[in-house]
Amino acid sequence: MTKTIFEPASQIPVFDEADILVVGGGPAGTAAAISAARNGARVILSERYGYLGGQVTGGHVSMIPNIDNGTGVQITGILQEWMDRLGKLPDGLYGPSKKDAGSSDPELIKQWSGYMGTVWNNKICYGTYVDPELLKIVLNDMVEESNVIVYFHCWAAKAYMEDGQLKGVFFESKEGRKAVLAKVIIDATGEGDIFASAGAEFDDSIDPAIRNSNLSLCFRIANIDHKKYLNYIKDNRQDWAEKMNQILKMAGFRMALIPSNRNDNVWVNNWTFGKNGMKVKDLTFVEIEVRKQIVKVIEFLNKEMPGYENGYLMDVAPQIGVRYSRRLKGLYQISFDDLKQGKTYDDVVAITPAQHVFNAPGEEIPMQIPYRALVPEKLDNLIAAGRCLSADVYAHNWINLIPPCTAIGEAAGAAAYVAVNSNIQPRNADVKTVQNILKKQGFYLP
Ligand SMILES: Cc1cc2nc3c(=O)[nH]c(=O)nc-3n(C[C@H](O)[C@H](O)[C@H](O)COP(=O)(O)OP(=O)(O)OC[C@H]3O[C@@H](n4cnc5c(N)ncnc54)[C@H](O)[C@@H]3O)c2cc1C
Repeated sequence: MTKTIFEPASQIPVFDEADILVVGGGPAGTAAAISAARNGARVILSERYGYLGGQVTGGHVSMIPNIDNGTGVQITGILQEWMDRLGKLPDGLYGPSKKDAGSSDPELIKQWSGYMGTVWNNKICYGTYVDPELLKIVLNDMVEESNVIVYFHCWAAKAYMEDGQLKGVFFESKEGRKAVLAKVIIDATGEGDIFASAGAEFDDSIDPAIRNSNLSLCFRIANIDHKKYLNYIKDNRQDWAEKMNQILKMAGFRMALIPSNRNDNVWVNNWTFGKNGMKVKDLTFVEIEVRKQIVKVIEFLNKEMPGYENGYLMDVAPQIGVRYSRRLKGLYQISFDDLKQGKTYDDVVAITPAQHVFNAPGEEIPMQIPYRALVPEKLDNLIAAGRCLSADVYAHNWINLIPPCTAIGEAAGAAAYVAVNSNIQPRNADVKTVQNILKKQGFYLP
């Protein structure tokens, strides 16, 4: 049995109060905070690290695929605003132009083949490769301009409950333990830290066979020539596959060299099998084990991989890559069958174009997210946003991508505003009003 000790009770200072507290500044949390604040709510966004963007910036997961495939279904709103702002910065992003979504122009297809997520069935999909550091700056600007109050370096430790109702969150910081109180709390921690500690039901099961079950620690290689590398693959696919296999054998886990916003660097995605993002020992293992392999892998690439002759380690992501963890048990749980069948909902609050990235379910079918998948059955005052929404393990494998998570966040923010403004529980928020607000924000809904 685990040895335990007693933690004495103590008075905790209330650091701040708001209409809406968003915990976690990833794609979902940042979009939620902006969306709620632009409607006039007093919004606090708290983040354990010192920047926004979650996995996209801190995890170096800078490929944002499948935003618009030219069928009319597209992710717009706050995600499109990221792109518009990044597009104005030098090398802020790289990818096909939105106006070319759906095009079969052979020149465009030739140009973008080799950039995962941008070509499907001989058609252009609008998706981008973004600069993580510039995105951090863009997101800071967006929250500041929207009057979101941001608190960095605040690690949400526990839900604060009064008479069984969620009323706030305790944070650990260099100032010690403090609390933030709010009428509605949006859990955008990815891991569902808030709803779990508040006692909401959740599912953290995983199938080790799926992509999402693996942890990773991404790193970037600079001073390479990605176009040279792509040309080599085109004419030497077998040779390339053998080299990637050698890397797998050498490192002990799979790696992929993914393009970035610039031709001279890539991010290296990787998949460490059988580790759990909620376990301290597993997280520690991945931090150490992946780093152990990096030097060997880059030396191999320098010698063997055309385009990588002069490559060097640019940096290692400050944030470990966790793809799955706790998923809320909401009023509705999205299933893999729902996605495959293209299920539609009256309470749809986000939609993502047909999944064209990884041969996912319903390759030609858009995926809808119902509002009920964001609200717990019993716990009051909470909305879950992003990858901790209510979905089965196989549906989650596809819904957790950056575009849907950002859209879900924007919807959660609008819904939280409606709940606060009408003084009702989030689960009772009028979805038609939420949908209308989202449409006014330029958000695509069917
Ligand atoms: C290695 C890897 C590769 C991927 N590749 C792609 C890809 O190529 N394209 C794609 O679209 N998607 C990809 N994904 C998926 C995608 O990045 C995530 O699912 C997406 O970022 C989820 O957004 P989110 O806001 O829900 O969560 P996250 O991005 O995880 O953000 C959660 C935020 O909450 C903060 N937080 C967590 N706990 C606390 C706490 N207790 N207190 C305060 N703050 C907290 C975190 O620091 C973080 O900022 C990948 C994921 C991984 C891990």
